[in-house]
Amino acid sequence: MNFSLSSVLAMTLLCGAFSLHAQTNMKPEDTEYYSPVPPTLTLNKGVPSDAIVLFDGKDLSQWKGEKGKAAWTVANNILEVKPGSGTIQTTENFTDFQLHIEWKSPEVIKGEGQGRGNSGIFLQGLYEIQVLDNNNNPTYVNGGAGSLYKQRPPLAQVIAPDQWHVYDIIYKAPQFNKDSLLVSKGTVTVLHNGVVVQNNTQIDGTTEYIGLPKPLSHGPGPIMLQDHGDLVQFRNIWIRKL
Ligand code: MG
Repeated sequence: MNFSLSSVLAMTLLCGAFSLHAQTNMKPEDTEYYSPVPPTLTLNKGVPSDAIVLFDGKDLSQWKGEKGKAAWTVANNILEVKPGSGTIQTTENFTDFQLHIEWKSPEVIKGEGQGRGNSGIFLQGLYEIQVLDNNNNPTYVNGGAGSLYKQRPPLAQVIAPDQWHVYDIIYKAPQFNKDSLLVSKGTVTVLHNGVVVQNNTQIDGTTEYIGLPKPLSHGPGPIMLQDHGDLVQFRNIWIRKL
């Protein structure tokens, strides 16, 4: 009797599956069927117990500046951009993650378009989710709040004048092989005040390589917050590694 290579392979896999089932005698509904078993978490004021708290209102111990210490202002449990002091970034680097961050536009409305309430959250230090005062402030379509800056506009514009905005960001980093060639692009999902504004959006490249499919090969990177010269405020920042 002749067997093709593929049929032999299929039979081998089938026998393997049966023998595994016979060995373990587990059913898909058994908790042990999955490995690892999902952890049990609790929430403390909305913060999951496995989260790394990046800013809880007290200090900038989890952050550094472009050169040395992070120099932004901390007062009344709020972090505020100190214009001219530069970008700040986390001391720890991350790859795939869930990030929660709250932001508020400056009290005094000043400027227009990209010059009003501009900041940004750079994922892995490379890809900017835009922060901008979006209340009656027209700008280019992929430059508003919730956009993957200059690549993808948000699916909806969520307006919340004089209120705190909340971003929940789920990020999967691009993958590279051992020769530093791109295997899969990064993706990002963003909820803006609970509304999905980026839905598993593919990231084509770093923010400065506007829209070009040219991601760089890199390891884990920081969360960076942009100093664009505006008094944007932040609070309640936490991250979970995925
Ligand atoms: Mg920006």
